[in-house]
Amino acid sequence: MMQLLGDPGTTQYDLRFSVLGIPVRVHPLFWLIGLLLGSQTPELSLVAIWVGCLFVSILAHELGHALAARSYGWHPDIVLHSFGGFARYSPGHGYTRKRAIWIAFAGPLAGFGLFAIVYCAHLWLSEGLANQQPWAINLISSNAGGGIKFAIHNLEYINLFWGLVNLMPVFPLDGGKICFEICNGRGSYSGQSRAYQIGMMTAGLMALYFASLEMYLAALMFGSLAYQNYQFHSQVKRSYQ
Ligand SMILES: [Zn+2]
Repeated sequence: MMQLLGDPGTTQYDLRFSVLGIPVRVHPLFWLIGLLLGSQTPELSLVAIWVGCLFVSILAHELGHALAARSYGWHPDIVLHSFGGFARYSPGHGYTRKRAIWIAFAGPLAGFGLFAIVYCAHLWLSEGLANQQPWAINLISSNAGGGIKFAIHNLEYINLFWGLVNLMPVFPLDGGKICFEICNGRGSYSGQSRAYQIGMMTAGLMALYFASLEMYLAALMFGSLAYQNYQFHSQVKRSYQ
């Protein structure tokens, strides 16, 4: 989702599998951070559901990037770790800005697709309950009812809200990669510099916005992204001097 950190390296506890022919590796830190983020949830079974929702959502997002990259004949793989993960690929021939933009956009798009599926299921269930359909009443009043509601809420929230946040023009979020490709038309100093300036300002505003909502972890993340964009900006300035 967000490649904020580099490759954490392999461990003997990595989970490896493949989806649609794309290799996936899950670093143990992914589960650990997921558990920490869900630790305010009162019940243990709900913590497990939260981690499951996070896993499915981030995997869907990375699969979006990976499938787009593979459609150009490149060989992607996915790593899930810490606060997210990344899909990487070594572009062979035919790398263009347009393709890079499409690959960056395909991640959030896959998340919005998952949101749409879950939202339809949500509407279907709500309508069943409103019409007092026995299947809907039995489902919600069963032991699994609370878990289902919790999963629907989390899947909607993660895929829509964080999908939109990830499209903010802040490097290295997906929206920032798109912004960079658009600004950096001729690989000039002014283009790259502008992309990082936009990133700095947007991340600063997002940090303030999240702080006003008392979402301090997100505020901290955007604060550090603002600083990161400032550093990128200084680096570009130096390399063109
Ligand atoms: Zn992404």
